[in-house]
Amino acid sequence: MVTPFVDGWDFVQTLGEGAYGEVKLAVNRSTQEAVAVKVINLTKSKGAADNVRKEVCIHRMLTNQRVIQFYGQRKEPNVQFLFLEYASGGELFDRIEPDQGMPQRQAHNYFLQLISGVEYLHKKGVTHRDLKPENLLLDEHDNLKISDFGLATVFRHQGKERLLGKCCGTPPYVAPEVLKKKEYHAEPSDLWSCGVILVAMLAGELPWDEPSYDCKEFCNWLDKRVELTPWVKIDTIVLALLKKMLSEVPSRRYTITQIKNDRWYCKTFKSKGFSRLPSSSPPGSFKRVCTGTDLSPSSANREETPGKYSSSQPSICGGLGTSTIDSSSVEDLIYGVSFSQPVHLDDMLLGSQLPCTPGNSQTPFQKLVKRMTRFFTKYSVEESIHSLLEVLEKLGYQAKQTSAGQLTITTQDKRRNPLTFKATLVDMDGKVLVDFRLSKGDGLEFKRKFVKIKGKLASIICKGPVQLQR
Ligand code: AMP
Repeated sequence: MVTPFVDGWDFVQTLGEGAYGEVKLAVNRSTQEAVAVKVINLTKSKGAADNVRKEVCIHRMLTNQRVIQFYGQRKEPNVQFLFLEYASGGELFDRIEPDQGMPQRQAHNYFLQLISGVEYLHKKGVTHRDLKPENLLLDEHDNLKISDFGLATVFRHQGKERLLGKCCGTPPYVAPEVLKKKEYHAEPSDLWSCGVILVAMLAGELPWDEPSYDCKEFCNWLDKRVELTPWVKIDTIVLALLKKMLSEVPSRRYTITQIKNDRWYCKTFKSKGFSRLPSSSPPGSFKRVCTGTDLSPSSANREETPGKYSSSQPSICGGLGTSTIDSSSVEDLIYGVSFSQPVHLDDMLLGSQLPCTPGNSQTPFQKLVKRMTRFFTKYSVEESIHSLLEVLEKLGYQAKQTSAGQLTITTQDKRRNPLTFKATLVDMDGKVLVDFRLSKGDGLEFKRKFVKIKGKLASIICKGPVQLQR
C-alpha cells in the first residue's frame, strides 16, 4: 500500500527484507525521484544499533558507480532510516534462472562489473564479507551495484593491513578459511565469493552448502570431479578461471590483477541489449536521485558522537553523489516532518523494479510481470489466497496469513535448511498481483519452490502479457 512518509514523499512498496527490517521505496510525488529507504528496527536485537552505526560509517565513505550510493540517515527512538540510491532493476538474483543460470555473455558483463566494484572497495581498504547475488543490485541500465554493508569492515588503514577473525557471511558464498576460525586475509575471501557468484550465474545452482570437509560437494570439487554438476554445465574456459578463484588455499587464489588478465575475463562478447546504456529514463520509471553535495557536513560530524543530540532529532550524513539533480528534496526526506496525501498505487508500482531494456516497446505494466517471482490471477484477493493456501498445504509447506493480503510460507530447501518467503496479494485494476519475496534461506531454492507453486496454480493464473485497461 502507498503510505505517505514525509511531506511530498510516499512509501510506495517494500523492495525487500534485511536482517533488521525492510527496505522500502520512497517516491517524491511531484518529481518522481526515487530513494530506497532501509527501515531498521532498533529494538529487534541487542546489537542492531551498533551494527547499523558500523554499516553507516563504512557505507558513507564509498562513492563509486559500482556501489549503491548512501544519501543519508534519520534516527527516531526505535527506528533508523537509511536513505540509499534506488536500484530499479532489482537484484542480480532475479536474472538467474534456477538450474540454468543466464547466458554466458550476460554473466560476463555482470562479472566484470562485480570485479570492478570489489576492486574499488579493496582499494578503499574495505571488505564486504557478504557478497552474493541478493546483495548485487541493478539500476535501470543493468549497471551492477554492490549493496548492504552490514557485515563490511575496514581491513587496511593507512597502508597497513589487518587480518580478520570474525566468521561471517552466507555459508554457500563464504570462503573456506573464514569457516576455519583462524585469522584470514580479507581480499581473497571476497574474491572466493565472487567465484561462487559466477557459478550461480552460469549454472543456476550453488556448488555447495558450505566449503567444509563435511560437505560432499565441496570435497568433490577438491577432488577435481568436474564431470559433476554444476561444473559440467560450465564452459571449460570459464572453468579454468573458477579453478583459480575457488582455490582452497587463499595464497594460491587469483588476485584481482590475475583475474583481470584471465582469458575468459578478457574475452569480448558482442553486446545484445543488456549492456549499460546511459540513455534517459524510460517512461514510467522513477528518476534516480542524487544529492550532489554533502548535505550537511556539520550534521555528519555530529552523528559520530552518539548520545550527544536528542534522538528525535534526525541526524544526517552527507551523500556524496556524483551528479546533481535535487538535493533539497532529499533533505526533506532525511529531515522529514509532515505527512501528506498518498498517490495511486498503480502509478507507483508501474515504474519500479522493472528490468528496462532500452527500445523495449512493452508497456510498464507488461514489464512489471517480467519479475520472475510474480504473477497475476483472474480471481479476487480472497479467492486467490484460498487457492494458494490449498496448494501450499498439498506441497507440505506451512503458511500463515501474517497480514491482510499477505502469507508467510515456511519450508525447507533440498539441503534441509529453513526457507521462508512471503506472498503479497494486491488488487490492481481488477487483477490480483501475487508477489513472492524471499525472507530467509537460499534464493535459488526459493525460486524452484515458486516455479512449483506457480505450476499448481496454472488454472487461476492470467496467461500471456497482461493488458491494463486504463
Ligand atoms: P538489505 O537489508 O540491504 O539486505 O536489503 C534487502 C533487500 O532489499 C535486497 O536484497 C533488495 O532486494 C532490496 N534492496 C535493498 N536496497 C535496495 C536499493 N537500494 N534499491 C532497490 N532495492 C533494494
